[in-house]
Amino acid sequence: MKYDLIIIGGGAGGFAAAIKANELGIKTLMINSGLPIGGTCVNVGCVPSKFLIHKSKISEIVSPDFNFEKIVEEEIDLVERLRKEKYENVLKNLKNVDFIEGKAKFVGENEIEVSRNDADLTQTNADLRRQTQTYEEMTLN
Ligand SMILES: Cc1cc2nc3c(=O)[nH]c(=O)nc-3n(C[C@H](O)[C@H](O)[C@H](O)COP(=O)(O)OP(=O)(O)OC[C@H]3O[C@@H](n4cnc5c(N)ncnc54)[C@H](O)[C@@H]3O)c2cc1C
Repeated sequence: MKYDLIIIGGGAGGFAAAIKANELGIKTLMINSGLPIGGTCVNVGCVPSKFLIHKSKISEIVSPDFNFEKIVEEEIDLVERLRKEKYENVLKNLKNVDFIEGKAKFVGENEIEVSRNDADLTQTNADLRRQTQTYEEMTLN
């Protein structure tokens, strides 16, 4: 397939480029793997960190009702909701922008190869939840 613009990475930077390209009517491809769509900010950066900072006020941690497992579940739910609202739904409305999940690699000056090995593909929310459970299993009493 031929495109006028290929954006490697589906994070905040990639989305800013994709929205502008769509406005300009440029035939564009976005390629993302590793982190889920939305990249660092929504999945593992700004959003979860600010949520956890907000929830880690001393008054809440010392409360007998403090429940870390519940807080992590809330954090994952927030991340999923914002990822859908701010990225997945936005992408659906970018009519000039195609999306492929896979790892992009330059194989020529104007040519990109996309590998779709399982190891390169994005972790799902189920994986994130499983990791949370593993963490819970490993905590000391
Ligand atoms: C803990 C933390 C808190 C933060 N808090 C804030 C904050 O409060 N305010 C703020 O402004 N910024 C904050 N940031 C920074 C912010 O998250 C980043 O500046 C922003 O996410 C960068 O966006 P990006 O699109 O350049 O990269 P990313 O969001 O990292 O997106 C890159 C995407 O490309 C994918 N990718 C990489 N290589 C390839 C490849 N070869 N093929 C396919 N896909 C590929 C990656 O997996 C990822 O999905 C924070 C960061 C962290 C880690």
